[in-house]
Amino acid sequence: MHPDLERVIALQRLDTAAHDAQRRLADEPERTKALDARLDAAKDRVASAKTRLTENQNARRAVEKDVAVHQGRLSKFREQAMAVKTNQEYHAVQKEIGFAQTEIKTHEDKILERMLEADELTALVKRSEKELAEEQKAVDADRKAMTAEHGELQASLERIAAERKALVEALDQQVLAIFELISKRRNGVAVAEARDGICTICHVRLRPQVFNTVRRNDAIIQCDSCQRILYFVPAPAIATPAVTHPAQ
Ligand SMILES: [Zn+2]
Repeated sequence: MHPDLERVIALQRLDTAAHDAQRRLADEPERTKALDARLDAAKDRVASAKTRLTENQNARRAVEKDVAVHQGRLSKFREQAMAVKTNQEYHAVQKEIGFAQTEIKTHEDKILERMLEADELTALVKRSEKELAEEQKAVDADRKAMTAEHGELQASLERIAAERKALVEALDQQVLAIFELISKRRNGVAVAEARDGICTICHVRLRPQVFNTVRRNDAIIQCDSCQRILYFVPAPAIATPAVTHPAQ
């Protein structure tokens, strides 16, 4: 293979790797945000469960106050019942007593409901706290992995830059100029494989004589359509099994 062709292929590989590393680095703020959001969501679930439990306790206390009010009325009516003088008064007081008792019963049922709900909410608080702790652990691990990856990406970018410098110095300056120009125009990809007579990136069919030249890999040939520098990968030699033809 033409040494400069080999170099531009290597150069392209480096540029693509650098581009991928840079994109991965550029994604970091977004990934950090996603991790923060995961943690915030878990914290919100704990806060919301705790709020519901507090509301439940407040509601229960309010009902308990109502019960106390009705119990106060009940004792007052019971005292009155001792002092009634007429049958009519007696029935009226009994009716009030019955009413107060019904109210107390209704409110006590409500308290029971609230207590059952409180059990569920307490369990929910515990569960969500456990989930938060797990999420915190997972997010910490992801953050740690991201920090490690950040270091690796930076190191690989430095390595790539050094390798690129050496390649660029060895490369024919005119070929380098072509490479850089096309790279700039073609979204960072200046080199394309030609396969089956087609440029594999722009998919345009090459003229047969162009493709034949490309197949030799001994010159810098550009695609007529996208101008990328073309190279050819020979098919690996496949051991053909001996085919025995049946006698005609
Ligand atoms: Zn092309």
